[in-house]
Amino acid sequence: MKPPSFDYVRPRSLSEALGILAARGDGARLLAGGQSLMPALNMRLLSPELVVDIGGLDDLRGIVERDGLVRIGALTRHVDLQRSAIVVRHVPLLAVAIDHVAHPAIRNRGTIGGSIAFADPAAELPACAVALQARMIVAGMAGTRIVPADEFFLGIYETALGPDEILVALEFDAVGPDQRSAFAELARRRGDYALVGLAAHARVDADRLDEVRLVYFSIGPTPVRARTAEALLTGRPLTRDTVTAAQAALAADLDPPADTQASSAARRQMARVLLARVVMELLDPVPIGAGG
Ligand SMILES: Cc1cc2nc3c(=O)[nH]c(=O)nc-3n(C[C@H](O)[C@H](O)[C@H](O)COP(=O)(O)OP(=O)(O)OC[C@H]3O[C@@H](n4cnc5c(N)ncnc54)[C@H](O)[C@@H]3O)c2cc1C
Repeated sequence: MKPPSFDYVRPRSLSEALGILAARGDGARLLAGGQSLMPALNMRLLSPELVVDIGGLDDLRGIVERDGLVRIGALTRHVDLQRSAIVVRHVPLLAVAIDHVAHPAIRNRGTIGGSIAFADPAAELPACAVALQARMIVAGMAGTRIVPADEFFLGIYETALGPDEILVALEFDAVGPDQRSAFAELARRRGDYALVGLAAHARVDADRLDEVRLVYFSIGPTPVRARTAEALLTGRPLTRDTVTAAQAALAADLDPPADTQASSAARRQMARVLLARVVMELLDPVPIGAGG
């Protein structure tokens, strides 16, 4: 199908883009990499009056590490995350997860900001942002505000962004020497959206975990924290019994939907399997690039 007709504008500065959004509000849609927006337009799931192409706003691109903080511009492409030594060293969860996002052609154009703002419940990066407690830097005509990832994802394709706001960057704490991340997902084919996925982050001390964050995706309307399982894995030796108890606790933490891809029961079972895999990986990390 062809998209419905729309006006198109390509602003040259952030303030120009914000001015356009303030004037057109709900009728306008931002275009970043276009890898989610264009299919949605072609399928006529969306019909904005105006498409605002922010691809020329170079200030929204790039990855910088300073004083223990990593700032990633919203227009940074998936492929740039994949190739970044800063990301591999300081935010390794993103480096591992991005390998599972779609295929090279899509990663060459898709952006981290587009993925976060689109808030697809099956997407990898929103769950990583919640696991790592990222801060979303959001610009509007009144200035800039910071939204913690925990408060950003509100529902299916729904975020805390207002119609006149632009996500300009994400900020992450660089991981410390005693912190580790792990990532696992199950998909029908490599590059497909996950049937179930899990992004995890914790402090690790020998065989104990602390400050555990287990964030599932493709299992609810937003990234879902498994808080009971997190508590059971915190501060005690990680024996087989501990992991089994945490797996059982997922029954209370998760309420997976059934769809044409998998039943609710199948998703629950996948969630248990992924939990065991990430715990193993937190204790015994796989070097980036060796995970297959
Ligand atoms: C075949 C296929 C397979 C895919 N598989 C996966 C997958 O496995 N996992 C996955 O996570 N993704 C997948 N994607 C989606 C891909 O990752 C997209 O690139 C991403 O979701 C959106 O990024 P984008 O830059 O292309 O955003 P766009 O498509 O340009 O925009 C998406 C939405 O976000 C809004 N937006 C964009 N940037 C901003 C901003 N800075 N501030 C505010 N709003 C903004 C737009 O208005 C639009 O509503 C797939 C896409 C395709 C076509």
